[in-house]
Amino acid sequence: MTTIEGNLQDLNARIQRACAHVERVATQVGLLAVSKTFAPEAVAEAVAAGQRAFGENYIQEGVEKILALRDSHPGATLQWHCIGPVQSNKTRLVAAHFDWVQSVDRLKIAQRLSEQRPPDMPPLQVCLQVNVDGGPTKSGVAPADLLALAEAVALLPRLKLRGLMCIPEPAEGFEAQREVFLEAKALFDGLNARGLGLDTLSMGMSDDLDAAIAAGSTLVRVGRAIFGSRAART
Ligand SMILES: *Cc1c(COP(=O)(O)O)cnc(C)c1O
Repeated sequence: MTTIEGNLQDLNARIQRACAHVERVATQVGLLAVSKTFAPEAVAEAVAAGQRAFGENYIQEGVEKILALRDSHPGATLQWHCIGPVQSNKTRLVAAHFDWVQSVDRLKIAQRLSEQRPPDMPPLQVCLQVNVDGGPTKSGVAPADLLALAEAVALLPRLKLRGLMCIPEPAEGFEAQREVFLEAKALFDGLNARGLGLDTLSMGMSDDLDAAIAAGSTLVRVGRAIFGSRAART
């Protein structure tokens, strides 16, 4: 067994335990393998171990990997999520190559993604990134502006609004972590009460995925615990 295969098994077992602990069904929680900075060969190992959903932060790097894996694995149905900041000048690349984008926090970016989504591709699946804990330096729409943004994005023809994503500041301990995630869950439930029909709540990383799952996460995002430590980005 390769290291990546073993790491994926450990992680899937951890997700199952976290679900069992709060009486959730493990199939409700997906694993996004965050492959940013790792080579296409590492992604290929994860694919061989059964992983299908991958997250990339840096758009150019992500596109190169998407194309490399399409060449090396023409039969595999992989799902690529953009989870990093999207500037206006990168929307065309995102719209043309990714299946999902989880980091939409402005209407202007959403409009460009909708306009630029190629007609022969399915709608781009979208999560809105929400700044749940009000961290001043972070991206994400403020909770007070979330409903208006969600209602506007839901109307865009080439996007499909699926849910919310958040990256809270690191908190110490399960209870403190869960509390922040519960705020995201409340926002998610609030949008669904308005009829938005969301099914994806992307939250939880290596250090806090148990708390995120306890609070209702449907998708945890993990990189280093699968692929190993990352070299500093140059
Ligand atoms: C990098 C990243 C992750 C995964 O982080 P690791 O420390 O590699 O597990 C998850 N979510 C987002 C948005 C990221 O940028």
